[in-house]
Amino acid sequence: MYKHHSALGVALSLKPAAPVTLIRPQAAARAARFFSQKFPGRSLYAVKANPSPELLRTLWSAGITHFDVASITEVRLAARTLPRAKLCFMHPVKAEEAIREAYFQHGVRTFSLDSIEELEKIVRATRGATDLELCVRLRVSSEHSKLSLASKFGCELADARDLLMATRQVADALGICFHVGSQAMSPHAYTQAIERVRAAIVDASVTVDIVDVGGGFPSSYPGMEPPPLEDYFRAIHRAFESLPISYSAELWCEPGRALSAEYSSLLVRVERRRGNELYINDGAYGALFDAAHLGWRFPVQLLRAEANEADMVPFSFYGPTCDDMDHMAGPFMLPADVKAGDFVEIGMLGAYGSAMRTEFNGFGADTICEVADEPMASLYRDEAPAPSLSNVVQLRR
Ligand SMILES: *Cc1c(COP(=O)(O)O)cnc(C)c1O
Repeated sequence: MYKHHSALGVALSLKPAAPVTLIRPQAAARAARFFSQKFPGRSLYAVKANPSPELLRTLWSAGITHFDVASITEVRLAARTLPRAKLCFMHPVKAEEAIREAYFQHGVRTFSLDSIEELEKIVRATRGATDLELCVRLRVSSEHSKLSLASKFGCELADARDLLMATRQVADALGICFHVGSQAMSPHAYTQAIERVRAAIVDASVTVDIVDVGGGFPSSYPGMEPPPLEDYFRAIHRAFESLPISYSAELWCEPGRALSAEYSSLLVRVERRRGNELYINDGAYGALFDAAHLGWRFPVQLLRAEANEADMVPFSFYGPTCDDMDHMAGPFMLPADVKAGDFVEIGMLGAYGSAMRTEFNGFGADTICEVADEPMASLYRDEAPAPSLSNVVQLRR
């Protein structure tokens, strides 16, 4: 792997003809330390956000010991990469074979479920194991989040009583979990959901050992700057403390995005300019799925050695494939004189960026380069970054 001091250094020295994934392990480690030290409970990393083994090892070294895995492939990958990690299989609809392999071959004891059928499946697959930690997933609102997770999974409050009582019968430890949707822009998302947990506990009168508030913790993107994460942690802690649960009950969370977003960015080259449309060499089938299909805006900066005084204007991007859908509307703000041959860094792609990459039409990104400069945005800097006057990076001489 190449190492450079900065994204600009990579652009100038490699002049890469294919997109390059820039990784910043120090940024992921800082996020992991933040969660380990400040979240008032245990933080599990949700592997699906970015399953890179280097990232898993970085998070482990920075204090993340538990991992939320959702497929047997993720179980195997995490078990192989971090043999001492504790894996929690938090997909509520699993293949029976996957549960069996996870339990008997990889030591997984924690599973989530949202139906009686899944509970029966887990009992069958583990041959009536008595050391299970079972988390019942409640359906909660996604109204505060940019990406809903409210329709597919989660047991309705009305059905929670029977499911919690049945699960309590077979579980060594009983948990309740939920997911407020990804990129939750307000701590209210969690306090509202915890109110629903309270209703479920009161209704079922069961002893609950784990409350797992799931993922959804935000990162910072243009037009989506969330409140400080400490506000979320405080609100969650207060709501958790007021639940009718035992003194020894544990609080868990499962951040994916918040632990991985700052880990990587993408270095692309402009292959053609047509008005304010830039044809770049990565796109919807590469790391920019969310930019294309969800209209997500990522921060961008032009990487040029010379000073640039041009005004900032809005651009949209086309990716490299032959498909019209390979289009990212943005707007992405760049200097008005951008031209073919220029290099652009697209930031904050560590979560759900590389993880979604395909090789459609023969376009991919094989080169990974570690850089030591700051990510383009961060929720973890000790103090707010100095406002930059332009987003053109210049070489310091
Ligand atoms: C996707 C997912 C997460 C991570 O969500 P983020 O919004 O990335 O934090 C956590 N838990 C479960 C069950 C998930 O499906």
